[in-house]
Amino acid sequence: MVSMDTKQWARLVLVALSLLAGGCGSTAGGLRRGPLPLEVTFWKPWLLNTARAPYAKLYVEVDAVRGAEPPQRWLDEMEAFLREQCDKPGGVTVVRSDLIAPEEAAASSVTSLALRHLDGPPPESAYIYVLYYNSALNPQLKTANPHAVVFPYPCAVVVDRNYNEAGFGDVLGSLILKHEVAHLLGAARDPAHGDGAHCGRRGCLMNPAFEYAGAGRGAGLQLQMTFCADCLRDMARWRATEAPGNLRFQGAYLARREAGYSVLTLPNAVHLHLGTAETLPGGPLWAAMKRAGSGPLQGREGFILSSSATGSTASVRTALRSAEKDPVSMVRKSARFFSAQMDRQGLPP
Ligand SMILES: [Zn+2]
Ligand SMILES: [Zn+2]
Repeated sequence: MVSMDTKQWARLVLVALSLLAGGCGSTAGGLRRGPLPLEVTFWKPWLLNTARAPYAKLYVEVDAVRGAEPPQRWLDEMEAFLREQCDKPGGVTVVRSDLIAPEEAAASSVTSLALRHLDGPPPESAYIYVLYYNSALNPQLKTANPHAVVFPYPCAVVVDRNYNEAGFGDVLGSLILKHEVAHLLGAARDPAHGDGAHCGRRGCLMNPAFEYAGAGRGAGLQLQMTFCADCLRDMARWRATEAPGNLRFQGAYLARREAGYSVLTLPNAVHLHLGTAETLPGGPLWAAMKRAGSGPLQGREGFILSSSATGSTASVRTALRSAEKDPVSMVRKSARFFSAQMDRQGLPP
């Protein structure tokens, strides 16, 4: 009989991995070749936002660095769009949450800002997190395209107001926000009219490139005001599709429950819990994530892999054998790491 002690499960292991994000290239770039990674698609997390169950409500938390706040009109248009495209009889609520001091943002990675400031949804709500910042404040940051994060926390949108701010970035701010949020509703997920992330139809808001005439004749002409019929059909299909029964928000975590283990994600963080979801060390884990946001990830982008366990050695070993076959490579990696630790402690296989 072994219980993984507090030290073990609360310890966060920082692993530097390259970032896999749903980069949008909202003004440039084209369609990707080949299908989206399996890790993005196999669990269909966007259905939590579109379907009526298990969450009849949708809650959107908007954090912003002071000076980079989105105008109210952008948020109002996003809210109207979500009301239209998601089957949420309990309503859609958009809340401005933290206003982050520029001094803090000047010394923080984007992941750090998100981990420190994200609060998560109230009970019984699906959740989208939106963060507006300005990379010009931090000499360490490069200007980034606005993007929806599709892995490992497929419920976040991050917008750098420095991105083409002098050009059309701000003129199109509301459309860009709609485009990013639509990624989290599964728009253009059907590869028949795009690459599974973006739409191949010219003139569709889900096209990877925005066409905009910023000068000369036709200045201000914006060709993509709406979604094409195929993208609208995608979202209509998802609203009518049942969400997987094993996905839930647990606080701010998006939790995927599997036999014997759960995978919990936050921005750039994947936690593997061996044991039932009810035995997750929620409070201490949340505190450890907040610490990681202020510690290892403060000044750099990175990825946090962590794990915890409850139960007997035998049940933990059984759960590990399943987790080692999880579709997500980071989960397999965490499981192998945990197994190796148990081996080193001389625990029976
Ligand atoms: Zn995009
Ligand atoms: Zn389209």
